[in-house]
Amino acid sequence: MTTASPKKLLLAAPRGYCAGVDRAVDAVEKALAHYGAPIYVRKEIVHNKYVVEALSRRGAIFVNETDEVPPGARVVFSAHGVSPAVHEQAAARHLATIDATCPLVTKVHKQAVRFAKGDYDIILVGHSGHEEVEGTQGEAPEHIQVVNGPEEVDQVQVRNPEKVVWISQTTLSVDETMETVRRLRERFPAMIDPPSDDICYATQNRQAAVKQMAPRADVVIVVGSGNSSNSVRLKEVALEAGAKAAYRVDYASEIDPSWLEQAQSVGLTSGASVPEILVREVVQKLAEYGFTDVEELRTATENIAFSLPKNLRADLKAAEADGEGEPRPLHARREPAPDHTC
Ligand code: SF4
Repeated sequence: MTTASPKKLLLAAPRGYCAGVDRAVDAVEKALAHYGAPIYVRKEIVHNKYVVEALSRRGAIFVNETDEVPPGARVVFSAHGVSPAVHEQAAARHLATIDATCPLVTKVHKQAVRFAKGDYDIILVGHSGHEEVEGTQGEAPEHIQVVNGPEEVDQVQVRNPEKVVWISQTTLSVDETMETVRRLRERFPAMIDPPSDDICYATQNRQAAVKQMAPRADVVIVVGSGNSSNSVRLKEVALEAGAKAAYRVDYASEIDPSWLEQAQSVGLTSGASVPEILVREVVQKLAEYGFTDVEELRTATENIAFSLPKNLRADLKAAEADGEGEPRPLHARREPAPDHTC
């Protein structure tokens, strides 16, 4: 009897939770533990079904707008950020707010405010309707126009081509954004660049890891939700980088066995809002189909962490001084330490 040799599972690293998501989820967990349920959360705290469902079970109530929050209640703003108008609405309802906007999104907001003060026309490369884009645009709506991609560049109108700047959403495809910027610069040669990268370190690192992995993978599976911009981009990047097929799933149970029938190698990664437990479940599922020869392909090591929102931190510190303990975490969130071997 011959035994089939194990098939290859390539595990991209870095993958999964970024520092901004880790902080935002931690903020909701700690708020629930410290203040007690319910804690209202405007929009999905991060774009991941599992995380939202798990926090809902613990007493978080997700709403679309602040006017759904009872006056005086406590609300957390999501990692994607909010416009000044949302802060004003919350203040008008006397809501206690915890702003879990990722500091790297806040950085883009600050750029927008600064360039608007300088009276620039600001071109925001990003996806219309995405919460992050709405929040950034809300900082200076009279100065900012959104461009979704290279195909929209021809429609851009500016007041003075000598005074144009571009900024971007943090979770875009690096390559597509650079193509959009190239075409914008053809039209506006004097256009200036943002002072630093707006596409964040986590998005760039996850795309770089997928680019290295994809040419060796017959099939790439991206764990992440359909409304997660960076997860959707990972699937696109995998296909552009040479994967023969790529699929996005929320859960291991969504894997269709027919995807794997002809495959000898599967590449696996996850978006920046995906807890590692979901990747582990996919690894287990793939093992059932014979993909047990696991190789991690690491292209970067991340050591970034952001501290909790200031007012929450202060309240927790005061409670700690009074002798209260640490709340229990939802789950092990991030991928294993760099020296982990599968
Ligand atoms: S993907 Fe980037 S910008 Fe978004 S929360 Fe994570 S670190 Fe922040």
